Amino acid sequence: MNLQERDEQHLWHPYTQHQTAAKPIGIVKGKGALLWDEEGNEYIDAIASWWVNPYGHSNERLAQAAYKQLTQLEHVLFGGFTHKPAVELGEKLISILPKNQQKVFFSDNGSTAVEIGIKMALQYFYNKGEKRFTVIAFEGAFHGDTFGAMAASGISFFTEAFKEHLLKVVRIPLPKKGSKAAAEAMKAVIAEHQPAAFIFEALVQGASGMQIYEPEALDELIDIAKSHNVITIADEVMTGFGRTGRTFASDYLKHKPDIMCLSKALTGGTIPLAITTATQEIFDGFYSKDVNKALFHGHTFTANPTGCAIALEAISILESDEMQANLKRIAQRHQQFLERIAKYPEVENPRTLGVILAFDLKTNQNTDYYGAFRDKLYNFFISKGVILRPVGNIIYILPPYIITDEQLNKVYDVLEEAILLFK
Ligand SMILES: *Cc1c(COP(=O)(O)O)cnc(C)c1O
Repeated sequence: MNLQERDEQHLWHPYTQHQTAAKPIGIVKGKGALLWDEEGNEYIDAIASWWVNPYGHSNERLAQAAYKQLTQLEHVLFGGFTHKPAVELGEKLISILPKNQQKVFFSDNGSTAVEIGIKMALQYFYNKGEKRFTVIAFEGAFHGDTFGAMAASGISFFTEAFKEHLLKVVRIPLPKKGSKAAAEAMKAVIAEHQPAAFIFEALVQGASGMQIYEPEALDELIDIAKSHNVITIADEVMTGFGRTGRTFASDYLKHKPDIMCLSKALTGGTIPLAITTATQEIFDGFYSKDVNKALFHGHTFTANPTGCAIALEAISILESDEMQANLKRIAQRHQQFLERIAKYPEVENPRTLGVILAFDLKTNQNTDYYGAFRDKLYNFFISKGVILRPVGNIIYILPPYIITDEQLNKVYDVLEEAILLFK
């Protein structure tokens, strides 16, 4: 039996209806932007394996960092103990994050980073004896799949089965250019609900199909929130570490968030690690002689030294001239590609920011998130050796930064072919 057949015996995949889904492709090797399956087929990983991998598969520098740490100190509990990789990663992050970020809390994945951010906000007010229970979030948001993160997420079928069990979230629309609707909605929610927090994917909603919005609009919303003491939480799990062309999407903002959530590219797509950072003021809301005011949250693998050591190396790769040049190169090439496909009337809402490029493909077919049209597109891309996961009729690319011009050309050509074929 091959991997595909053995997989089917016991494995349960994420976001997968096993009765109807195509069988998973058995991947045996990855290098740079390329993956190979068990039959020897080659694929370009044009979505960086669910947005985690900026510096290429099987990256030597990250592997060396992992090996060095694994043979020095692979793990130690973080309750009552600390270690060099965590200390150094904390120092490094504080030096590159917006200046108001002062405290670093470790966990394992994007959902837990968000979960912790929301708990920090809720308990901050609880510790002060203020009754603030509501969270403001955007329509179409995605913040993860654990309960708190899921509550903040607005893609209905992800959360439908659990909607009676979620914390109180009030939604506002994503800002649109020239419209004040989001700001007005924000003011109304604040007047009515005394919210504790406002959580948002900074500048790009990833899972709802790379919906990009303006920094000025987000700045205004953060400003409104802050003037009513609502804690602002930037979910930069997808946007962090270069994706938007700057190190963090929050770098485009004048008003900086109080709390930030990071994961995905943090370890260069090697092993799970996540971070929630906070301002001194948030931290001080827990700092007390009263033990009950502490943040009673932790995970067994909190601040895993190997993850921290890899993350440090990953940030150093991001900061290299070579990687910064890659970010510019890809952003420029994306712009050129958008100009190239502008002539097709079927291409709607073409958009790009940093290494992210997306457009909606006009169709009269079913455009459900995991609908038939999406499956047709997905299968077409796979048959061409390009891994892309359209969201309904939205096609996006989010390549690793090390993708070559030649590989990028192939991705663009396949996209153009899809436009002509499926319009
Ligand atoms: C992927 C993602 C999450 C969840 O991260 P996991 O590691 O999958 O739990 C949260 N927020 C955003 C913006 C994401 O893109």
